[in-house]
Order: sequence, then structure tokens, then C-alpha cells
Amino acid sequence: MKIVWFCIPAYGHTNPTVEVVRELVKRGHEIRYYSFEEFREKIEDTGAAFVSIDSYLPPLDEKSQDRLKRVSTTEMSVQSFETTARLDPVLAKELAEFQPSGVVSDSACFWGKLTAIKQNLPLICSTTTFAFNQYSSKYLRYSLSELADMALGLPRMNTAIRKLKPLGYQVRSALEIVQNSNDTNTIVYTSARFQPFSETFDSQHYRFVGPSVKDAPVTRQEGQRPLVYVSLGTVINERPDFYRCCVEAARGEPFDLLISCGKVFDPAALGELPENVRVEHYVDQMEVLAGANLFITHCGMNSASEGLYMAVPELLYPQTGEQQAVARRVCEMGAGRMLTKKEAQSPDDIRTAIRLALMDEELKKAALAMREDFRSCSGFKGAADFVEEVFG
Ligand code: UDP
Repeated sequence: MKIVWFCIPAYGHTNPTVEVVRELVKRGHEIRYYSFEEFREKIEDTGAAFVSIDSYLPPLDEKSQDRLKRVSTTEMSVQSFETTARLDPVLAKELAEFQPSGVVSDSACFWGKLTAIKQNLPLICSTTTFAFNQYSSKYLRYSLSELADMALGLPRMNTAIRKLKPLGYQVRSALEIVQNSNDTNTIVYTSARFQPFSETFDSQHYRFVGPSVKDAPVTRQEGQRPLVYVSLGTVINERPDFYRCCVEAARGEPFDLLISCGKVFDPAALGELPENVRVEHYVDQMEVLAGANLFITHCGMNSASEGLYMAVPELLYPQTGEQQAVARRVCEMGAGRMLTKKEAQSPDDIRTAIRLALMDEELKKAALAMREDFRSCSGFKGAADFVEEVFG
């Protein structure tokens, strides 16, 4: 069958789809994946046809660029509505020619979801965070600045929505598009156990397939010098203050520390590093986690899940409301401990937290239980089965 796939320009939203798409291509399906140049290689490697839509993103002034960098919900929503309008004529033409059986769209990708609705095509929503409804959204803990951004952004959001009406899109609010409705077919890349209130989601329409990663053997060994891995993900990661504290926490300690600092930050800014510390712009995270003993994570859904998939206990340092939700759930599972904002500013407190976590057998046991839970899920193959079921 022919499938159209849409995603936003974000690693955390693209990565989990990669193995699903590869599996569908392997099963003989034809996929047109609308994405962005940064992800071309990853997507082409699956065998899908990559379609670049970089040129349809609205031009950004400095203010908007800055807001996007800080992951402003308002800015992302306004830009998404504008992208929808800019893509409208080209998608109308291309989808009419391609004649897909259905559309898979990331849950935060407005143009994907709205195109499916406007063109009356079956839609599957690909959700790389927890699924959020009235119950699970209680886990979200937005900061005051996040809440202010959403409240003050309403007029801009409404203007963007009004502009879509003449193009045939009936939208009431950004929330209506983003939140998970019970009658939309939805893939969620986590387990029913880890998803808060999973029983409140309709079992006909929801598949909790677990993290969509390639399984890999755990390579860490008892008695080996421990490896502590630090990453704040791919979005909000320019944090020299935090990296500096981690480096100082590790100085002279009997463990190795690896920091993945993101593509923008210059590791030279950290000065000369102790022997046991390495800083990289980007690493093969699953491979690193296979050999790691502790993961200091910002609790992006993918990172936290990948850590648990590889049975690595976690020190949780969430930066956004959504990451707070993930952190809280990891704590509830017993597989992680919070690193408070205050602790994260002190090398001594980070060192103490690392030492305690490395010795904590309960954390290790709980992380192992999470690995078993995740590995018992249907994974990317289950997601591919669901796509075939819905569009077949
Ligand atoms: N990632 C990676 N190497 C790195 C840093 C990140 O492969 O050095 C991947 C990571 O495995 C995950 C994704 O980037 O799949 C980050 O997604 P997440 O949801 O954790 O956080 P975000 O970057 O969206 O904040």
C-alpha cells in the first residue's frame, strides 16, 4: 500500500518512526516521508522516499528564532499553522497524484493531521511523548514562564487559526489538534505500564508499542569502571554551567563521564578536561547506554525510555513541563532519582547523587524490570502491524 508520513523537524519525534518505516518498506509498502534536510539520510536509509519541505517553513525574525529555541508552545503552534497554509497547495496536488491509503502524522505535526482531515484520508497519529488526555495531563508540570507563554500567546494563535479557515481547515484551537482524542488511531512509543492512566485510552484505537528502538545487548560488566552518561537531548542543550558542574563532579572520581553536549555548544569552553571525562557533540546513544551504569538525562521521552530499555538507572533533570511528566513516571517506577535545580548547580551535590545512584541496588533492579517490560512490547513491528491493520 501507499502511505504518506509527516513529522516535525525534531530528532525526538523522528527517531522512533525510523524503524517502523524501515519495517513497512521491508514489507513492500511505498512510503513518502515529508520531513526536513537534517533528517534526509536517516529517512532515505529506511528505503522510504524522502520529500524535503524545508522551504515551506515560514521565514523567522530574531524574536521568533529565540522563542523557538526556548521551545515556546505559542511560537511552535503559530509556525505550524503557517506551515500548514504554505504547504496546502502542494500537498493537495501531490496527495491527489500519489493516492495514499492513509496518512501517519506526528502528534505535534499540525500540517500532517490537518491535511489528513481536510483530504478525508485515514489518519494514524504517531505519539513520541506520553499520550495526553484529561487524566494523564495531570503529570505535566509547566513552569510559570511556560504557562505565561501559552496564555499570552492566545491572540497570536487565534489569528493564525483564522487564516486557515478560507483554505478549508476547521480548527478550534491548537489544543484540539495536539491532545490525544480517544477515537483517533494512535501509536504510542511506550508501554502500557509506563504510560500514565493507560487504561483511560480506548484499546481499539491505541497501541502502546513500547520504545521503537533496535534491541541491542547490554555490554556493561560487573567490576568494570562505571560509566556515567550525561545528555540534555538535542533541543535545549546549550548549558555550559551544568556541564561544568558535571565535569567538576567527576574530577578524580573512580568513574568515567561522557557528556553529549549537542551540535552547537563548543566543548573547548569547558577548558582542559580531567582524564576520566569526554565530551562529544553527538553519540550513538543506544550504544553508549549499552555500556553505561548511570544516565543523567533531561527526561526527553526518547532518552529516558532508551536508558530504561538498556536497564540504566537515571538521575532526572527535567527542563520542561513534558519532561517533568516523564521524570515523575520514572521515579514512580523506582528506576530514577530527581536531581533538583539546586543540586544541578553544585558539583558536590552532583558527585554525591552519582555516588549514591551507582551503589543503589534497588534502582538497578527497577531499571532491569523496565527493560523487561519494554522488551515484552510489540515495538516497531507492532507499530507496522497496526498501520497495516488500519490502512489495509
Ligand atoms: N540522541 C542521540 N545522540 C546524542 C543525543 C541524542 O542519538 O548524542 C538521540 C536520542 O537517542 C533520542 C533523541 O536524540 O532518540 C532525543 O530525543 P529526546 O526525546 O530524548 O529529547 P529531545 O532532543 O527531543 O529534547
